[in-house]
Amino acid sequence: MIGVYLVMVCLFLVFLYIPLPWIYGRVLRKMQKVKAISGNQVFLTFDDGPGNRLTPQILAVLNDNNVKATFFILGRNVVGRERILKSIVKEGHSVASHSFSHLHAWQVLPWRLISDIKKSWDLLHDVLGTEQDKFVFRPPYGKLNLLSVLFLWRQKVAIVYWTIGSLDTWAMDKRNVNHAAERIRCDGGGIVLFHDFDRAADQTDDYLLDSLKAVIKAGQDMQLAFSSIEQLHRK
Ligand SMILES: [Zn+2]
Repeated sequence: MIGVYLVMVCLFLVFLYIPLPWIYGRVLRKMQKVKAISGNQVFLTFDDGPGNRLTPQILAVLNDNNVKATFFILGRNVVGRERILKSIVKEGHSVASHSFSHLHAWQVLPWRLISDIKKSWDLLHDVLGTEQDKFVFRPPYGKLNLLSVLFLWRQKVAIVYWTIGSLDTWAMDKRNVNHAAERIRCDGGGIVLFHDFDRAADQTDDYLLDSLKAVIKAGQDMQLAFSSIEQLHRK
């Protein structure tokens, strides 16, 4: 009998550790989608950068169109690209954290994940030289565990998902350069996910830039606002 109770307790703890944060993430994503759409807003977001090749090209497109975006920086990609990180802020865009090492929250020990998040915050704080020492967080792979959620709650740091993928990390034959723009036209707003790290094959650069331009065109045609991610949490 004690064995049965033990198994039930273990199952409950596992539920608390992974499925519950997963459900929480789904709810958050839904709420963020509703908020973006009801506010007639498009949030352009870029993960895993900065990249030597893509980030400056993206900044040029954003500048040409006079729209703002948010860059979810991967700490390990900042080394040697500090100047690009600074130029993101200089051009009026927002910087947020996508952790330092891109760890999967279900596959590493919780304290390792938490120290990885802190490491990315410290790096952004040091390189940017701002007073800000905590940054909005987007979990790698969209995955969280119970302790990382509790940690971020305690730090009062917002967790941000995405509602529309640009498919820029998908296999070439599964991509559609107009996918994100079509979704913006259909949904009337949203949080669009791109990736600005340097790939081995540079044909993705053209795909991403064309997809970004199509999203901007769709948002402008519909007179949507291009907002930085802080505005998602403003009442
Ligand atoms: Zn990522």
